[in-house]
Amino acid sequence: MSEKIIFILVGALVFLVLVLVGVVLYLFNRLLKEKDMTQDGEHSTEPSRATRTGADRDQLKRMAEGVESSYCVNHPQDHAQGLCAICNETFCEECIKEHEGLTFCRPHFRLFISHEWETVETIKTTPETPETAFPIYDFKKALWEKEGLPAVISTHYKINIDTDTIESYVKLLVRADEYETLAERYQTFKH
Ligand SMILES: [Zn+2]
Ligand SMILES: [Zn+2]
Repeated sequence: MSEKIIFILVGALVFLVLVLVGVVLYLFNRLLKEKDMTQDGEHSTEPSRATRTGADRDQLKRMAEGVESSYCVNHPQDHAQGLCAICNETFCEECIKEHEGLTFCRPHFRLFISHEWETVETIKTTPETPETAFPIYDFKKALWEKEGLPAVISTHYKINIDTDTIESYVKLLVRADEYETLAERYQTFKH
């Protein structure tokens, strides 16, 4: 009985991942085309639109090409297999470690499992509105690059049957002992 449920769940998960990959590829493709058009100047009458989509386009493009075209920072001859959830650097299969649906480089895997983590914020996004989660990405980046403070972003996907859309829930996690200060700072940062 329980085996059957697990089987169904795994099946559903595989399906979801396939759908997501499709959506990302489709968006990436569309954004590339849009970029080509703006570069050709055919759409130069719409400068405001181009500026508005600029940020999410860059972000999606980085996401789509980031890992594939990169090499491991420890092994420059090996293709990257994933990004570390803490330092955001690319690593090969040997250097990357998967844990609870996230990937880490080895030192940051040890850092992650040796602390308790608390959720500072959860933001719901859809493929049409990826920019709603930007404050989370920007805050995490600023913490790491300016202060070396680790934060982790975890994303869960859900299909909303009523609206037939994929919703993602983007979560920002920080170490429990830094939670109070960082939660307060995040609120200020966001506004
Ligand atoms: Zn790392
Ligand atoms: Zn490596």
